[in-house]
Amino acid sequence: MEFKKIQLNGFKSFADKTNFLIENGLTGIVGPNGCGKSNIVESLRWVMGETSAKSMRGSGMEDVIFSGTSNKASKNIAEVSVTVTNEKNEGPIQYRELDEVNVRRKIEKDKGSKFYINDKEVRARDAQMFFADLSTGAHSPSMISQGRIGAIVTAKPTDRRAILEEAAGISGLHVRRHEAELRLNAAENNLKRADELRRQQERQLVNLQKQAEEAARYKNMSEDIKKIEAGLYYLKLLEIDKEIRVENEKFERRNR
Ligand code: ATP
Repeated sequence: MEFKKIQLNGFKSFADKTNFLIENGLTGIVGPNGCGKSNIVESLRWVMGETSAKSMRGSGMEDVIFSGTSNKASKNIAEVSVTVTNEKNEGPIQYRELDEVNVRRKIEKDKGSKFYINDKEVRARDAQMFFADLSTGAHSPSMISQGRIGAIVTAKPTDRRAILEEAAGISGLHVRRHEAELRLNAAENNLKRADELRRQQERQLVNLQKQAEEAARYKNMSEDIKKIEAGLYYLKLLEIDKEIRVENEKFERRNR
């Protein structure tokens, strides 16, 4: 994959939409002190998912939004998009088929950042992962800003290891391992909850079985009661019949 274009809009000193084309070969940015050269490098790091406002030379992430000058009003939104060509169909599997991938980050005052890959909103992690898999993450050693060479030379062994791992292209794997661990923990918690739920259902089942047995007993008993009652009514009917017959005979005898 190759970087083709960076577009800045409202980011730091770039109040208006500005395009930087990255052609074949070496691309250099030349300009007087304070013209915004470092801002361009920072914009690249920012769109790749940088989370530290300090490393953007600000106190809060919203400081990247154009804050206005004497003749230009401040903005509410900053946006950086980077276009990556993928003629060799490389990179993360879901983007391998695409010839061009556009990653965009937008920050709006009081609303925070949003990330888009090919205009579809994605999680910050997805954008970070995209570049981590390309081994060009926000902290990649291939992006070296002012004073960083010294920092690499004097880095602690653990930091240097991270830099070397990133250079070796395995930083994406580390991010993925962390994500897999988080998912594993979540799955374990789900499993525990499912187990508790199963035990609850089992307890409920025992209760329901008891209730079902009682209901069956009640049904049998009420059928027996019905049968006995029917027998009783039949006997009563026989008795009434007998009484009618006796009374009829008495009546006939009296009228003879
Ligand atoms: P040097 O060569 O001295 O390192 P540079 O070309 O790298 O300079 P930058 O440090 O990228 O320049 O740009 C600094 C300029 O950006 C300053 O003029 C600063 O006022 C401006 N700037 C930074 N943040 C903002 C912002 N949020 N809104 C407006 N302007 C900003």
